[in-house]
Amino acid sequence: MENWGIIGHEWAVHLLRQALEEGELSHAYLFTGPPGVGKGTLARALASALLCQGDPRPCGECRSCHLAASGNHPDLFWVQPESEAGRLKVEQVRELQRHLSLTPNMATHRVAILDRFDQATPSAANALLKTLEEPPDFVVLILLAPDTDSLLPTIVSRCQVIPLRPIPVPQIASALQTRWGVDAETARLLAHLSGGRLGWAVRAATEPDLLRRRQQRIDEMVALLRAPLTDRFRYAAELARDPEAAQEALDLWAGWWRDILLLAGGVREDRGGESLLTNLDQRACLEQMATRFTPAQVVARIQATRTAMDRLRRNANPQLTLEVLLGFDL
Ligand SMILES: [Zn+2]
Repeated sequence: MENWGIIGHEWAVHLLRQALEEGELSHAYLFTGPPGVGKGTLARALASALLCQGDPRPCGECRSCHLAASGNHPDLFWVQPESEAGRLKVEQVRELQRHLSLTPNMATHRVAILDRFDQATPSAANALLKTLEEPPDFVVLILLAPDTDSLLPTIVSRCQVIPLRPIPVPQIASALQTRWGVDAETARLLAHLSGGRLGWAVRAATEPDLLRRRQQRIDEMVALLRAPLTDRFRYAAELARDPEAAQEALDLWAGWWRDILLLAGGVREDRGGESLLTNLDQRACLEQMATRFTPAQVVARIQATRTAMDRLRRNANPQLTLEVLLGFDL
C-alpha cells in the first residue's frame, strides 16, 4: 500500500515504516497536530502495520488488518474522553493498563491509541506515566494531542514526537476529487477552508450541514461586530453552552481575520498561482472588511481569538473567555 494508504505526511510514514522494518520502533509515540489533520488515521495505520500477519505490512487483507479496520482487533485498544467536552479519566487508563499487562492475543504486540490525551485529567496522565516508564516489551502506545505544550513534560519526554503539519491545499483538493468523488470547484473550496486538515475536508464534503453551519457563524460574526455589548454578551453565553461549537466558531473566526489581514496588509495573496485565502467563497465581504480595519487592529483580533482558543483548550470558563473576546471593541 503506497504511503500506507495515507494522504500526505509522507515523511512520518517513511520514518515509522523504516523503524518497523528494522525492529526499532519506540514503545511510545506522540502524534501532534490540529484536529482533523490525520493523527488518528496515521495511528490506525501504524497499529495495523504492527498487528498485520501479511506482507508487506499492513497488507489490508489479512484477518488482523480487517479486525483492526473494523475496530475489533483483540490487541488494539482505543481510549478517548467519553464525550466531546469530557476528560479522559484515570479509570480508563487503569482499565487499559489491565489489558496491556496481558500477553497479545493474536499478534506479537498490543497497541493502545490514546486520543485527545491533552484532555486527560492530571491523575490519568500520572497513571499512564507508569506504563510509559516501564512498558511491557510487546506494548506500543500512541498518544494523540494538538501540541506538546498541552501535556506534562514528563509524558512528552518519554514519547517519540511526530508533529503532523497541515497538508498542502492542492494535495487535499486532488484527494477529494479522486478518492471521494467531489467536483473540482467544491474540492478547491473545501481544501482552502480545511486549512490543510484532510479529515475536516472529508467531513465537510460528506456532511452538508457543516458548510451551512459555517455560513451561519460567519453571518453572526459579521453582525456581532456592529452589535451593542449586551447582544455580544448574550451571544457569548449561548455559545458557551456548547464547547465544541465554541471551538469551531473561534477556529472559523481566526481564519476569517487571517484572510482580512492578507487582504489589508497588501501582501501577495497567492503562492505558485494558488490563492492563500482560506474563505475563498467570501472574498467580496472580506475585501469590504479589509477597508474598515487597519492591519494592527486585525492582528490584535487574531491574537485575541487565539488566546481565547488556547484558554478554552485548557478548560478555562467558556462564558468568561468568550465575554472577554467579544467585549473587545475595535
Ligand atoms: Zn494484514
